[in-house]
Amino acid sequence: PRPVTTSLLPTYKILLIGDAAVGKSNLLMRFANNSFDIASRSTIGVEFVSRELELPTERDGGNERVNVQLWDTAGQERCGAISAAFFRGAKGVAVVYDCTRYPTLKNLPGWVAHAKQYADENCAFVVIGNKIDLKNLHAVSEEEAEGVAHSLGLRHFYASALTGEGVPSAFLHLILNVNSLMR
Ligand code: GDP
Ligand code: MG
Repeated sequence: PRPVTTSLLPTYKILLIGDAAVGKSNLLMRFANNSFDIASRSTIGVEFVSRELELPTERDGGNERVNVQLWDTAGQERCGAISAAFFRGAKGVAVVYDCTRYPTLKNLPGWVAHAKQYADENCAFVVIGNKIDLKNLHAVSEEEAEGVAHSLGLRHFYASALTGEGVPSAFLHLILNVNSLMR
């Protein structure tokens, strides 16, 4: 059998942040669905999931194997107190808002500022508008969302943790950015 030596691979610590109930935990589960290795405390309150991915290398057209660790909060965002330890060593951050709740987009720049204060200097960011499946409940126009992301210098992706739509492209964009910032 293939030895399990994920720890020998370069590990990318990636965080999911944003207001409560925007769908962070469900995005994590969606990402983990195709995973080889789930490191979790229990079905409720998963701390992080790991997934090995092959990334294309720019130079020789080959592949590089990396271990992506996607971290979830345990609901600390409800009291606005995410610890510095959560951010330590993070290489990428997905900042999530809920397309059906405008205040979650308004709070997004605050989340980015908070993360920039504690995460690695070279941290990569992406904005994810989750719950794109609830089309008739949308409370945020694409223009507004793009505007907020643009003002932060970040790419904006729509996704649905429910259907899976857009989830791989958003995470892949973030992971490739982490990869290029680490070169
Ligand atoms: P968190 O607090 O950010 O971790 O949010 P959760 O992942 O716990 O999700 C909050 C609520 O939104 C739950 O009721 C989920 O079922 C629901 N939810 C999460 N993602 C989606 C989505 O993409 N579409 C829909 N329709 N509901 C979602
Ligand atoms: Mg959660």
